[in-house]
Amino acid sequence: MQAQKAEGTRDLIGAEMRAWQKMQQIAAGVFEPFGFKPIETPAIEQVDVFVHGIGQSTDVVRKEMFRVFSGANLERVFTEGTDTKLKPKQRLALRPEGTAGVVRAVVENNLVPQGSTPFKAYYAEAMFRGERPQKGRLRQFHQVGIEWLGAPDPAADAECIIMLMEFYKRLGFDLSKLRLLINSMGDAQCRPAYREQVKQFILDHADEMCDECRERAELNPLRAFDCKNDHCREIMADAPLMGDNLCDECREHYEQVKRYLDVAGIEYVEDPTLVRGLDYYTRTVFEVEAPGAGVGSIGGGGRYDGLVELEGGKPTAGVGFAVGFERALLALQA
Ligand SMILES: [Zn+2]
Ligand SMILES: [Zn+2]
Repeated sequence: MQAQKAEGTRDLIGAEMRAWQKMQQIAAGVFEPFGFKPIETPAIEQVDVFVHGIGQSTDVVRKEMFRVFSGANLERVFTEGTDTKLKPKQRLALRPEGTAGVVRAVVENNLVPQGSTPFKAYYAEAMFRGERPQKGRLRQFHQVGIEWLGAPDPAADAECIIMLMEFYKRLGFDLSKLRLLINSMGDAQCRPAYREQVKQFILDHADEMCDECRERAELNPLRAFDCKNDHCREIMADAPLMGDNLCDECREHYEQVKRYLDVAGIEYVEDPTLVRGLDYYTRTVFEVEAPGAGVGSIGGGGRYDGLVELEGGKPTAGVGFAVGFERALLALQA
């Protein structure tokens, strides 16, 4: 039988490889003047890097992560029926996204010692997720992203968004055809009580909602806002919103971000139901859509002030974003 590529993967040949290289060049051209330097972290990490950072309850960690075992360990997993007896360093995964690995590198190398200047890096790497392959969704895909550690100020959130839109512009997008969505997801002070409210809301409407949302109520209630089921969406339209439950500090932070964007002339749409699928986000989150291209979001990011601690470091603010190469290309072609 003729050899075939793995399902959900693609070869980058000729023009497509050129397009990927060009995207990397544009990334360097846009991000380096802002002080960002290139970084590359390994494609495999200890699985705990993702479990701690992205969150045990997320779809990414529960369903989509490719696990990796070397020969002898794989045999043990088969024999023992579990990987829990392996050492942490023997339990590996392919990176499903770029942020957790960069933050792990920052913690491990103490790149943001207390009182130092912020750490700014950008990457262009392959990511791996075991999703059902469909248009714009691959099992090995490429992302360009930035991470900015040690920057608690709302000006950093705004600067990220400004850089992101500049990046799209240089890629060839007509910015008036893109939609930038923003929201605040609160922080450790105000989100837990809000999360509880949404959980209660779902439980109150459990008999009308899909099985997956009922499961979400316990694990990750905010994800119910993303349910594809029309009836769930109708119900969630009446759910309590984070925006009405922000603490004073989060509200002020969010207002500041919007003021900076207004001054910079960046158009945005506030979407109070925008919750990015990863647990680590705090406060500002944003996403860019190319309406009509049929590929969903073409990039996004947000603030993650708790992530460095989740990876075992000292409290350090952070913010960043990632742009999917394949989806951006599809959207450009559309
Ligand atoms: Zn649902
Ligand atoms: Zn708050």
